[in-house]
Amino acid sequence: MLIKYGLCYNSGVDIKKLIKPNIRALRAYQAEEIPCRIKLDANESPYSAISSQSGSTRTEQSAVSFKNNLQTLNRYPDPQATTIRKLIAKELKVKPQNILHGNGSDELIYNLISVFGGPVLYPGPTFSMYGIISQALGEKKVEVPLDNKFDLDVKKMLAAIKKYKPKLVFLSSPNNPTGNCFSEDRILKIIRQSKGLVIVDEAYQPFSDKKSFVPLIRKYKNLVILRTLSKIGLAGLRVGFMITGPDIINEVNKVRLPFNVNVLSQKVASEALQNRRQMKSDIRAIISGRKRLYKELSEMDGVIPYPSDANFIFFKVEDGNRIYGGLLDKGVLIRNMNSVGDGFLRVTIGTPQENEIFIKTLKQVL
Ligand SMILES: *Cc1c(COP(=O)(O)O)cnc(C)c1O
Repeated sequence: MLIKYGLCYNSGVDIKKLIKPNIRALRAYQAEEIPCRIKLDANESPYSAISSQSGSTRTEQSAVSFKNNLQTLNRYPDPQATTIRKLIAKELKVKPQNILHGNGSDELIYNLISVFGGPVLYPGPTFSMYGIISQALGEKKVEVPLDNKFDLDVKKMLAAIKKYKPKLVFLSSPNNPTGNCFSEDRILKIIRQSKGLVIVDEAYQPFSDKKSFVPLIRKYKNLVILRTLSKIGLAGLRVGFMITGPDIINEVNKVRLPFNVNVLSQKVASEALQNRRQMKSDIRAIISGRKRLYKELSEMDGVIPYPSDANFIFFKVEDGNRIYGGLLDKGVLIRNMNSVGDGFLRVTIGTPQENEIFIKTLKQVL
């Protein structure tokens, strides 16, 4: 018998009332697809780390391995992701026991907050997921404003650490959305004075010439580093890593879902990690694109770009909403950062052609 939806409902159920208050108050991460000609809003790489436009051999190779892997899709993936953990360990000069894999580093942020709980402390403005996940898990969150150079306000941070005793401190360095790295000595002060974990999120480290904090995991047992393949050409795979001591990894492993990184993602990630040449040259191309774009922006009247160690540039204009809308009307999608303050925008570095169209269009809209 066919029961039509609408004829058969239970009027006693009020879904809204069933939702936990912390979730009811939460706004979902803004990740809707906005149709556009040029997409410069999400800090993805304009180059795919696997099927490069230039290298037909690489495309053929991945097509072959893709087919081979379709034949093994009846099996669960390697729960330990042994191959990709080994490859990342080798690259970062740590041991595979120092690496834990996530379905994107977002998942590892979720797992860390599940295991350790709050309070969760972070500077602001920063990556929105630290706050969103804390609230989703019902944990207290504390945001401490950055100083006027978007660097850590060490005094305020240390005072907040003393007052709230956070279990977790998240530092995105380079910071999303401001683009700068935090001063090394300020990060170190926070690591040394925290009784909880300090997570240095190095999602954009490959675009920076500042030192990585990875080697310091041997020295500070409360230090955790996050890395991801998402910003270096493989956002579609959802593969991220946590680098820290085995004590923390063993605890986080208890809440990690067993098969969190699927067969295809493991295979493609391992191929990409074994062939770093293309990835490295793509990163270099993005860095030189950033330098050009920064120069162009700083020469424009009414535009203030901020120095960037990442694959995007944070900048300020007089009327951000108008500029954002004007660009979008012409098919160029960037990120409106009006949640940070009036006039703030963020543009991802694209291909040289995309960057040029962005600059030309911005000049028209201004
Ligand atoms: C994009 C981003 C991430 C998320 O990376 P995934 O691995 O794609 O989940 C983490 N941290 C920061 C600061 C980011 O900007």
